[in-house]
Amino acid sequence: MNRREFVKTSVTGLSAVGSLKAAESRALPVVISSANGLKATQKAMEIIRRGEDTLDAVVAGVNLVEEDPNDRSVGYGGLPNELGVVQLDASVMHGPTRGAGSVAALEGIKTPSRVAKLVMERTDHVLLVGEGAQKFALAMGFRNEDLLTDEAREIWLKWKSQLNPDDDWINPEDRVSGSLADEGRVNLKKVLKYHGTINCNAVNEKGDISGVTTTSGLSFKIPGRVGDSPIIGAGLYVDDDVGACGSTGRGEAHLKACASFMVVEFMRQGLSPEEAGLRVLKRISENTVEPYLKDEAGRPNFHLLFYVINKKGEFAGVSMYSGRQYAVHDGKVNRLCDAAYLYEAKDALE
Ligand code: ASP
Repeated sequence: MNRREFVKTSVTGLSAVGSLKAAESRALPVVISSANGLKATQKAMEIIRRGEDTLDAVVAGVNLVEEDPNDRSVGYGGLPNELGVVQLDASVMHGPTRGAGSVAALEGIKTPSRVAKLVMERTDHVLLVGEGAQKFALAMGFRNEDLLTDEAREIWLKWKSQLNPDDDWINPEDRVSGSLADEGRVNLKKVLKYHGTINCNAVNEKGDISGVTTTSGLSFKIPGRVGDSPIIGAGLYVDDDVGACGSTGRGEAHLKACASFMVVEFMRQGLSPEEAGLRVLKRISENTVEPYLKDEAGRPNFHLLFYVINKKGEFAGVSMYSGRQYAVHDGKVNRLCDAAYLYEAKDALE
């Protein structure tokens, strides 16, 4: 059975899924991340090895990427919204205390993951947004800084100079008629719009699990647009009895599916990380009915990825399309691995 048939079989029915083996099994601890997080998994593993908390570990890991001006998908240096303002989203979940915190559309603070963690630790709330989130961060001692680097500003100016029709406004009729796809709008979006995020999840020797997701979201988004990353259950879900999942890719798809929550719930029912991730991708694919979001073969024309671990330390990166990677530190080696996938990638998506 080749890889394609294997994947196809694995997502067509419960009995087939049930007969598959777990993705990879390793001794604890394990740290998994999106492919831009190789230094995050390394850092988080060092902290876990010192016996420190799993959430402290993954947040310290992603801080390296948030503060890196060269990562255009996260924190400082992230691409701005359509007005040229960087707006950041982040969430954290701490398994042992069943805690959650998040921030959305936060401006001026380089490390939204740390603010999300403080929302969890210092308030009775889960989600703070916009100006309120920024005021909270300033009260906690964060500095308000200009997050737009010269490079990100240049990319934004280039996008502005080629603006129409690559914006996010649509006519209700075009959404269902297929005319948006006919216009080639999807291809324009592919060239000019960027997604990107870092998710990082860890399980330590005791089986304690935590996760964090942080992003500048969809580039050139409508101001105030919030993706899946700060939404508990969409961009991140941790259940200390079961495992953790975080997501990257088209946030709107993860949001409509409560995607990370569903992956963890499938693991609770006995599926491995890989099986659970593929099952949810298949569900999302089936529920993608808008013509402008489908390719000629009727498949989603966007990327989605999950980064999944369970309490035993089994892990998987799972992608809608082939050719994607994820980072993992299994306690011995820190490396990039190929993600499992639902469909072979076609040129149109690459
Ligand atoms: N999921 C993020 C968002 O939609 C972006 C991404 O991961 O590519 O905001």
